[in-house]
Amino acid sequence: MKPGPDGVRVIVDRVACIGAADCVAAAPTVFKLDHTRRVTLLEPQSVDARAIRRAAERCPADAIIIESATGEQIYP
Ligand code: SF4
Repeated sequence: MKPGPDGVRVIVDRVACIGAADCVAAAPTVFKLDHTRRVTLLEPQSVDARAIRRAAERCPADAIIIESATGEQIYP
């Protein structure tokens, strides 16, 4: 988990990730694949909340989770 823009929290589920890299294409300053081709978080605050949401929506494995500042799941 890392803090994102507008107080949201960004979480990646590395077990669910299938390495499709759609998130990397959508937000390369936020998501990166490691040597095992699983997603890792870089800097979620480098983009706005809409960009995080767009990247999460592109993930075919629902491996990007967005929570509010109070821990409520916003997506998926
Ligand atoms: S889009 Fe989803 S499945 Fe693909 S690398 Fe990113 S987190 Fe993993």
